[in-house]
Amino acid sequence: LKTTKITDPELYSIVEKELERQKYNIEMIASESSAPTEILELMGSVFVNKTEEGLPGKRYQAGSQYADEVENLCIERAKEAFGCEYVNVQAYSGATANYTVFNAVLDPGDKILAMRLDHGGHLTHGSPANFVSKIFNYEHYGVDLKNETIDYDEVEAKALEFKPKMIIAGASAYPRLIDYKRMREIADKVGAYLMVDMAHISGLIGAGVIPSPIPYADFCTSSCSKTICGPRGGFVMCKEKYAKALNRSTFPGTLGSIQINGIAAKANMFKRVIEPEFIATMERVLDNAKYLAKELEARGFRIVSGGTDNHTVLVDLRGKKITGKQFDQALESIGITVNKNTIPNDPESPFVTSGVRIGLTAVSERGFGHTEITEIADIMEKVSDNIDNEDVLKECKSQARNLVSKFPLYPDGYFED
Ligand code: PLP
Repeated sequence: LKTTKITDPELYSIVEKELERQKYNIEMIASESSAPTEILELMGSVFVNKTEEGLPGKRYQAGSQYADEVENLCIERAKEAFGCEYVNVQAYSGATANYTVFNAVLDPGDKILAMRLDHGGHLTHGSPANFVSKIFNYEHYGVDLKNETIDYDEVEAKALEFKPKMIIAGASAYPRLIDYKRMREIADKVGAYLMVDMAHISGLIGAGVIPSPIPYADFCTSSCSKTICGPRGGFVMCKEKYAKALNRSTFPGTLGSIQINGIAAKANMFKRVIEPEFIATMERVLDNAKYLAKELEARGFRIVSGGTDNHTVLVDLRGKKITGKQFDQALESIGITVNKNTIPNDPESPFVTSGVRIGLTAVSERGFGHTEITEIADIMEKVSDNIDNEDVLKECKSQARNLVSKFPLYPDGYFED
């Protein structure tokens, strides 16, 4: 930011502070990752200047030759990475990706069956706080409270009774694999579309370290900034037969001019997803997540569903006699960011919660392995047992800083002047 540093020092200093925060903070928010240098560069490229509406070869603007090349490359790479029949890469985010699918095949008043927000679902899946609830008619399924995994019999029973036009599989805080085959069978029984919202887990799927929903789903939506480690953005994959409806719904249905700079960054993201380095990172994410779950359990934390099959560990703090809010704030004060999160059947409100959601993507990208995860578990135990003890928290803060300092953010020196 050489020019901004000179012409807008006030703003520059805020960016500098954020860079310092990211450098010396242990980032464990499950939806976060650190975008590689190429992605930061591409987000700031001259494609910021180009207005484009419509698809490559069918734009409403002149001068689209290179924008078309970028978007076609992005589409080609996405198809190769995920083996999908069709993809639209224009969505601004995971949330807008979902809206474009709803708008593509549903009418106001249509019924959607999705996962409960307080059992791990997402706001865009029909929360009363999201505008989609004013348009569509929602029913929700949850997890079986005995094993805290999706109760597919409940999904089926609800589908048979409610007769939804769409079933959504996918969640924000669900640490287990989803049985897409069973979800497809249920959708087929009631003639519903199956949409898989893989916003959180698309990096793991693209890298092939967990199963893919592509063979089963009519539509798959995703964010680009979670495990897939790309820019802010989204994309939608679907069966070829829905391509026209999806494209019309994307533009002019929901979006205005698209972000070709973002699509360039997504093109780089899709290229990396199938490269050995990214696959190794995703393997490390899975391994670290399973390891952290075990290490925390050994220190008296209860792990929701007894473990994890993805990048997320959901922790029940009730045994530690603290709330999610308290733990989240105490960890933030010592340089570890997680987020408070409801657990199934949570007695606390969503603002307080009994749990936290911990994500392993960013630390695994930085190179953390078992030694570092053990130290994080030690720190978490100390913090949970000494939530109001300033001296212990101070000690934990310096321990966390020492740990993270061994793993530089952007070791290629991108941010060094
Ligand atoms: N879908 C799910 C399951 C999510 O967890 C999220 C974000 O956390 C979204 C959609 C929205 O993605 P974005 O933040 O990219 O709009």
